Amino acid sequence: MTTGILSLQGNFLDHARSLELINKEYTLVKQLSDIKHIDSLILPGGESTSMIKIQSNNELFNKLKILIQDGIPTIGTCAGLILLAKDVIDGEVALGVLDCVVERNAYGRQNESFEGLVNFIDNTQMYCFIRAPKILKTGNKVKNIAFIDDEVVGVQHNNIAGFTFHPELTNDKNYLSWLKFFIEEGKNVRSF
Ligand code: GLN
Repeated sequence: MTTGILSLQGNFLDHARSLELINKEYTLVKQLSDIKHIDSLILPGGESTSMIKIQSNNELFNKLKILIQDGIPTIGTCAGLILLAKDVIDGEVALGVLDCVVERNAYGRQNESFEGLVNFIDNTQMYCFIRAPKILKTGNKVKNIAFIDDEVVGVQHNNIAGFTFHPELTNDKNYLSWLKFFIEEGKNVRSF
C-alpha cells in the first residue's frame, strides 16, 4: 500500500522527499486512476484555487472525499489545509471534511511570508509560513496540535490533520516521526 500525494500543482515533491526519508512508498496523484491503492493521503501546499480549478471537470475530489471520510490518514499543509476545511474565508470550500474555519492569505501578501517558532507535540521548531492561511475557529471535537504562542497553527480531527505551515520543508526528526506514526496508525481512528 502507498501514500497518495495530490500532485496537481504545488510542492508535492517536498512531501515525496519526507516519505522517502521514512522509507514509505508514495504515489503522485494526478488523476482518478492514481488513487486505486492508496491507504493514506497528503495534500500539499501551493495554490488552492488552482488545484480546485485543475480538477473541476473530473471526479477526483469526490472520490478523495469518500476515502477521507472512510478514515484514511490524511494530512494537509497550507493550501492542503484549505482544501480540507469546512469553511473558507476568501476562498472556496473544496473537500469540506475538517471542522474548522480558515482564512486564506490571512497574514498578507507573498512578501509577508515568514518563519516562526512552532510548538508541535512538545517540540519547538522553526517552520515556514508561505502566504499562509489562519485557522479562525475549530469545531469542539477538533484537537489543536501546533501553536505559535497562543495562536493555533495545526489541528487534528481523528484521521485528518492540517497545518498552516510547511513541516515538509524542514523535515526535522520530530515531524518525521509524527508523520510515520500518523500514516501508519491514523487509519485506526475512524471519524465518520
Ligand atoms: N495562499 C495559498 C492558497 O490560498 C496557500 C499558500 C501555501 O500553500 N503555501 O491556497
